[in-house]
Amino acid sequence: MVLTDSHCHLDFAAFDDDRDEVIGRAKAVGVTKMVIPSVCHRSLDRLHQLCQSHSELFYGVGIHPRFAEPNFEDALGTLAQFLESKPDKCVAIGECGIDMVSSPLSLEQQMTLFEGHCRLATQHQLPLLIHSRKAHHHLLPLLDKYPLPAKGVIHGFSGSAQMAKEFVKRGFYLGVGGVVTYERAQKTRQAIAEVDRNFLLLETDSPDMPVSGFQGMRNEPCRIQLVLQAVTELLDLPCSEVSSLFSENSYRFFNRLV
Ligand SMILES: [Zn+2]
Repeated sequence: MVLTDSHCHLDFAAFDDDRDEVIGRAKAVGVTKMVIPSVCHRSLDRLHQLCQSHSELFYGVGIHPRFAEPNFEDALGTLAQFLESKPDKCVAIGECGIDMVSSPLSLEQQMTLFEGHCRLATQHQLPLLIHSRKAHHHLLPLLDKYPLPAKGVIHGFSGSAQMAKEFVKRGFYLGVGGVVTYERAQKTRQAIAEVDRNFLLLETDSPDMPVSGFQGMRNEPCRIQLVLQAVTELLDLPCSEVSSLFSENSYRFFNRLV
């Protein structure tokens, strides 16, 4: 089994004490690629270094709406400069997006910041790693506005089947994480079961988004196997078929995952 965790924050301090063990446990269950989205322009050099020292780690370049600061134009400039240096192992633009619950920026500012990420994604032909919290309806018109040659993924998707199809119709992928392991998440489980399965990516969002049975604990990439198991049951297909589906999807989506 060869799996990609398309979204995990292994650079966070939560992993400072045992990062190598966490990566080892992930590899032991077949997670051979892990993509770490940056959340702040200040962490880029450290993230780049971390990925240089582990063959299974890759990263995205972006500013998370929750960690954004009012002078985000300068921060965007730092991202642009960093990308100009053609850094190794950068496979995406993000994490970026709109958060209607916990961003210090206004919606208007968040939209401007997101559009900055769209421009970088277009310029460098990289896919977007999109954070959308109570914001799907604000994002759709923005996604329509930009050509985005490599499209993007709505990470940790939660929402209706109708909304899922709106994203997929536009060529965007959906990140499937711990949410689907909860029996009560009926709406999202239904959406994942109904949507074109060639547009699904596996993720853990570690250390966040705990899977069912591990609430209140730090999440880590090896638990992706529980997400995979939940999707296997939802789609009612053999596990081997679902894991190769996810593997193919991730290589198609991240065309620089080598
Ligand atoms: Zn994230």
